[in-house]
Order: sequence, then structure tokens, then C-alpha cells
Amino acid sequence: MHLDSSIAVDQHPALLGSLVPPKGVKPLNFSPGPTSLAADVEAEIKSLFDAERMCSMYLSHRSPEFVDILHNTVKQFRIAMDIPDQYEILYMHGGGHGQFAAVPLNLCPQGNEKATYIVNGTWSKRAASEASKYCNVVTASSENPDGTFTSNPSFENLDPESKYVYLCSNETVNGIELHQLPKLGIDAPLVIDASSDFTTKHIDWLGANVGILYACASKNIGHPGATMCIIRKDLLGNSSKFCPGVLCYTTNIKEGNLWNTIATFNVEVTGIYAKWLLAQGGVQEMERRAIIKSDRLYKLIDQSNGFYSTPITDHAIRSRMNVPFDVAGGDASLTNDFILQAWEKGIVGLRTLTPFGTGKYMRASLYNGVSVENTGILASFMEAFMNANKTK
Ligand SMILES: *Cc1c(COP(=O)(O)O)cnc(C)c1O
Repeated sequence: MHLDSSIAVDQHPALLGSLVPPKGVKPLNFSPGPTSLAADVEAEIKSLFDAERMCSMYLSHRSPEFVDILHNTVKQFRIAMDIPDQYEILYMHGGGHGQFAAVPLNLCPQGNEKATYIVNGTWSKRAASEASKYCNVVTASSENPDGTFTSNPSFENLDPESKYVYLCSNETVNGIELHQLPKLGIDAPLVIDASSDFTTKHIDWLGANVGILYACASKNIGHPGATMCIIRKDLLGNSSKFCPGVLCYTTNIKEGNLWNTIATFNVEVTGIYAKWLLAQGGVQEMERRAIIKSDRLYKLIDQSNGFYSTPITDHAIRSRMNVPFDVAGGDASLTNDFILQAWEKGIVGLRTLTPFGTGKYMRASLYNGVSVENTGILASFMEAFMNANKTK
């Protein structure tokens, strides 16, 4: 290592979560989000500024040029995700958190209706807490006594009076993923937070009784500022009278998604992502890559004789998007060494602050924008670090 000895180790940028590696070293970004876009997508975005028409960053949202971009973008996602005609597609403001409130405000007109929240990690827990302002939240939680999450709760015997059943299909912080949506024993529609796994696997929209699915753009399909919401038409028209217009699906659909100023540039970026994704081979190909990338890391962790460990032992629910791991049981000095040496090689984003603190584990996030090749570089680094530091 060539660390500058004048910097106290605990003040080192790498340990403060800096995403900028040493000068001249190419960053390999494994952040949980926002994160790097696929390289081809980034290149196309740069070209937007020199395009013949104006870049969407400064196109009026009501101009024919932008309306065209919006319609094309929605069309690409409909094709890529095989979204049936029974569903409307909207771009909303306010990120995932906006949807935590929007869902009950759109589905619970009285404000006292029951809604079941499957709580399998920190994001669904936060969604339940936000929703409890606007409806009667019933939770089915798998939280361990120490506040961690390492499993899913049962999907059986859910309250049949629920207006909807909410779940997060990939718990970004905890590393728990539903590789397939569950079929529930009750008629209530599913509401899915797919912020960190949207477009990385097929969705059985009608078969799984999906009512609403949303995804903030900043993980797999773009950058922060636009949230895609897919809403089954029969659920429209029931919003609470207190639902703000910007959060109201019915209002925004009626106005062609132009009730107020849509996030023009952010929307176009997601369209470029969708086009790239289709050209690569679609969702199936994204899933294939996600499996290759995450398998590489989980295998290495499982075969490390405890040098690395991951909290989720049940392979069937391990996230392909976010791989949490620790070094030597969380040993502080080896962990710092690991982060510093990774940073020297440009590997950044493994330990970032979340609203829930830094947590016990580091995390490698492997979204669509992270290539198989770059994941291989991380795995090789982890192997070399283990061989240099293991005691037996
Ligand atoms: C990132 C993330 C969010 C947070 O969304 P914001 O856009 O920050 O409001 C919500 N849910 C999940 C699953 C996430 O990964």
C-alpha cells in the first residue's frame, strides 16, 4: 500500500465512504445506489447533448419532441418487461419514499382500511411505518430480536380483509430477494417495491396478482429523480381526498403523465437504459448475468472457510443484486485494510452510509450497470486479500 502517512487512518477518504479512488485509477463502482450506469448507456447520454434535436434536459415537457421521448420510453419498458395492457405506466416524483405514502393514499380512500405489509428488511419496515399514517397496517415480519433480517416471514394465513399485500422483492440493505413472486392465498393484489431488482427478472403480472409495482430509477434503470410506477387499471379512481396531486396515480394518468413537470432528462435516461437492455438480450440476459455475478461472490464467500461470511445462509433467498459480506467476522483492522486496499485498486462503494447506518456488513451491489468483468475484478481482489491475510 502507498497510503499517505500524514492522513490518520480513520480520516482516510476510503473509510469515510469516498467513491473517488486515487488519481489515475479507474473507479469500479459497487455502490448500492445511485450507482454507475452501463458504459454504453453513459456514452449515449453524452451524445444527447450533441444530438440534432434539443437534449431532453432542456426540452419543454409538453413539446411534441418530449412527448415522443416519453411514449417511446414507456413502450420500451412495456416490451422489455412484458407488461400487459391492463396496466398503466407512470413516472412519479419523490423516489421510493414518495411511493411509501402514495400506495396507501391511492388505495385506501377512508384511511382506516387494512393493508398487510410483509416486512423482510429495512426498506419494507420503513414503508410500513410511513403507510401507517394513511391506513391500518398489519405486519407479517421476520425481524430477528436483534433487529436483523435473515429470512422471509410466512406468506400463509394473511388477513383476507387486506386491501393489498405489500412486499419488497429485493431488500437492498439486508440482501434478501424473492426470485419469484409468491402466490398468496387471499384475493388482495400485491404491491411491490422493486426499486433494486426491476428489469433483472421476469414478472408474472397477472398470474401473481400484481396490483402496483414501482421502482426508483437509481439502481437498475437510471439515476435518481424518476420513479417508475406500474398500476393495474382496476385499482384507479379510489384515492383518498387527501392524496396530493403529485402522488395521485389517477390524476397523473388522466393528464398523460404531464400533470406537472415530469423529470424530462431522467425519463429519457431510463429509456436509453431500456433500449440497451433489449439490445443485450432483455430481462432474461440481465437475469443470467445477475446469477453469474452473484454466484461468483457467494461461492468465494462460502468456500473461504469463514474468512468471509454473509448473513443470509438460505441460498434460495440470497440477493443477486446486493451481496452483504464481512471480513474475518467483522474484525475492524482487517476490514479497514480491505477497504483501503480495494480503494487503491479503484474498487469503491462497498461500505456506504444508509439511513440505517453503515451496518455490520459491507455490500457488493451488482446492478445492470456492473459488468461481469468488473465483478470478476472484485472477486479476484477478494481472493488475493484472503490468501494474504488468512491465518490457517
Ligand atoms: C433505494 C431504495 C429505496 C429508496 O428510494 P428513494 O428513491 O431513496 O426514496 C426504497 N426501496 C428500496 C428497495 C430501495 O432499494
